[in-house]
Amino acid sequence: MSISAGQTLTPAATAPGRELPLFVLGAGADPASERGVNCPGELPPASDPALAERARAARAALGERAFVLGHHYQRDEVIQFADVTGDSFKLAREAAARPGAEFVVFCGVHFMAESADILTSPAQKVVLPDLAAGCSMADMATYSQVEQCWEALEDLGIDREVVPVTYMNSSADIKAFTGRHGGTICTSSNAARAVSWALSQGSKILFLPDQHLGRNTAVLELGMSLADCVVWDPHAPGECGGLTPEQLRAATMILWRGHCSVHGRFSPGCVADVRARIPGVRVIVHPECQHEVVLAADDVGSTERIIETISGSPAGSAWAVGTELNLVQRLAAGNPDKTVVFLDKTVCYCSTMNRIDLPHLVWALESLAAGRVQNQITVDERTAAQARAALEQMLALPSDQARAA
Ligand code: SF4
Repeated sequence: MSISAGQTLTPAATAPGRELPLFVLGAGADPASERGVNCPGELPPASDPALAERARAARAALGERAFVLGHHYQRDEVIQFADVTGDSFKLAREAAARPGAEFVVFCGVHFMAESADILTSPAQKVVLPDLAAGCSMADMATYSQVEQCWEALEDLGIDREVVPVTYMNSSADIKAFTGRHGGTICTSSNAARAVSWALSQGSKILFLPDQHLGRNTAVLELGMSLADCVVWDPHAPGECGGLTPEQLRAATMILWRGHCSVHGRFSPGCVADVRARIPGVRVIVHPECQHEVVLAADDVGSTERIIETISGSPAGSAWAVGTELNLVQRLAAGNPDKTVVFLDKTVCYCSTMNRIDLPHLVWALESLAAGRVQNQITVDERTAAQARAALEQMLALPSDQARAA
C-alpha cells in the first residue's frame, strides 16, 4: 500500500493485516523500525532561496485560521515558524486550547498529530506536512501484535489481573486498546504515577511500547527489581512473546519489546567517555535511554525537565545531554554561559522527525492558503473515543502535571 501526498491517513490503515509498509530512510537505517510512505506532491525545491519568505507569506495569509505546533526535536528552519513549541502532550493540549484555529499544522510525528486530532474539536483539521514523519517506537507495537498478546494473556487466564499502561508515543489504535481495557496513557514525567495507579487496579502491568521507560520507572522510581520485569517480544516464535506461562504469571511488569531508535543508541560507554573528556560534567538523559545508561547518568528526566534543569543551572556548569540532537543544539545556543554537549560523539537526529523540513512546511501552508488541505490526519470517532478515555484517565491521575517526551 502506498500513501500519496494529500491522502487522508486513518487508523483503519493500520488495522490488523494492513500495517504500513516499511521503507529504509537511509544507509544504516533499521528497516524494522523506520516507516516511510511515498510523499510526491509538488514540493518546492530545497534550494529555493525564497523558502523562508514563502513560509512567512503563507503563514500571514492564514492568520489565526492556522496554528503551527513545533516539537522540540524539530529542525531550526521549521521551529522558527512554530506558534508554540513543546513536547507531544503539551502540543496536543495547546491545539485543543485553540478551538478557533481551523487548521492545526503539526510539525512533529504521526502519533502526535493523531493525539492532536483526538483532543481537538471535529471542526479542526490536523495536518502533518510529511506523512513519512512516523515514529520508530510507535511502529514497534502494531494493533494486531498487541491484540495477539492480549489473547495470549486471556488464554492463560491472567488478563483480568493486567492493566495496560501505554506511553504517549503510540498509535491511536494502541491508545484505544488501552482505553478499552481500563488502562491509562502515561508520559515520561508521570509514568511512575500511572504505574502506581494501575497497580491499584490490578496486579500486573502491560507496559507499551517502550521497554526502557517501563523498566526505568519500575526499578528506579517504584522500587521493583529487574526480576519483576519480563519483556514480551512480538516477533518471538510461539504464543507467549518468547516467555513461558510461568514467567508471565510471576511478572509484575510485562514490558513490550519496543524502544526509541534515537535514545536507544546511547550506551554506558558514552557516559564514561564524556566524563573523561569534560571533567566535572553532569550527565542528564531521557528515560527512554537504556537502564544501564540511566544508572550511569547523574540525572534523568523528560524533555521539558531537561530544558528546565539546564536553563536553571548556574553559569559555568557543564552538561552532557542524552536526547535528540536538534534540542541539544538549541539548548547549547540558548545557554552560552554553560557548556552543553551531546552525549554521543556521533550525530543522532530523529530521522523521521527530520522529515518535516522547510519545503514540506511551505507546501502545507501554501496549500492551506490556497484552500487545499493536504495530509490531514484523522482518527475515526470510535477509536478516538476509546483513546480519549485512556487519555482522560491519565489526566485524572493524582497530582498530574502531565508532560511528554
Ligand atoms: S525521538 Fe524516538 S520516540 Fe521520539 S519521535 Fe523520534 S523515534 Fe519516536
